[in-house]
Amino acid sequence: MIRSYDDVPVRPSNMAGPAPEFPWPDGKRAAMMLSFDIDAETAMTSKDPAHAEKLVYMSYGGYEARVGLPKILELLRELNLKATFFTTGWVADAYPAMVEAVLKDGHEIGHHGYHHLLPDPGSPHIESELAKGFEALARHGVRPVGYRAPYGESCEELRTALKREGMLYSSSWRDDVRPYRQVLSDGSPGVVELPPTAGYDDWTLGLSTRFGPRPVFPKEHILSMWKDDLDETRAWGAMVGTVLHPLVSGRPMRLRLLRTFLLYTLECRDVWIATGEQIARHFETCEAAARGGAA
Ligand SMILES: [Zn+2]
Repeated sequence: MIRSYDDVPVRPSNMAGPAPEFPWPDGKRAAMMLSFDIDAETAMTSKDPAHAEKLVYMSYGGYEARVGLPKILELLRELNLKATFFTTGWVADAYPAMVEAVLKDGHEIGHHGYHHLLPDPGSPHIESELAKGFEALARHGVRPVGYRAPYGESCEELRTALKREGMLYSSSWRDDVRPYRQVLSDGSPGVVELPPTAGYDDWTLGLSTRFGPRPVFPKEHILSMWKDDLDETRAWGAMVGTVLHPLVSGRPMRLRLLRTFLLYTLECRDVWIATGEQIARHFETCEAAARGGAA
């Protein structure tokens, strides 16, 4: 446990080497991990369980089940795209129809905790959140291979547990534009990391609530940022990872923005739009081939 500056290790916080520049499939120049986080009301209760009695605050989360997710699924059907939905276990138990709808359309379900509790180092909830999340998804016949940490935070205990559980990938670290293999503190390989792109988190730009007031930006403003990020990423041959929430992007003006952006991405024709599992498996294949070639 780090208690003072004397305890802070003088070395990089991430000991993984540079991300390898593997080519994308089918001659694509870049990749987009199209992913959504289904928090619903756990976005509110994870801050304080007493929020469960604040029904209007909770209704921001409830929008996800009533309107947001169906609208997102409809858009993905229209565009013939598959995505990853990182889903909290509470959602899987409270709204089983949401999980079933995602599965029916052939999307990937990822692990996103149970009550969406922040996995701070030393938190007593790390193992129970992981176990309860697996159990809730198993009730739908799902054994997820991908994990996105609630609030995007992680720690050594958690990433070691992900490896122990046989997970394929995590999508939380913010330090790269390509997939890479995590390295645990004992030097052993961890899971594949698919770094999400902070600029593609719709919540930070598109939703203001009583307990989380924020400026809200119009379509033109966000579209300009999203296109710039994507175009430069295409030039780099790298990847972007979205952090979208149906309770934000399933609102009318946000859905219009997302449709416009996804149509633009499709028109580029050189971006591989894929689920986290597809990208992580592609990475593993390239990694194994590179190891074989080096031997
Ligand atoms: Zn979340």
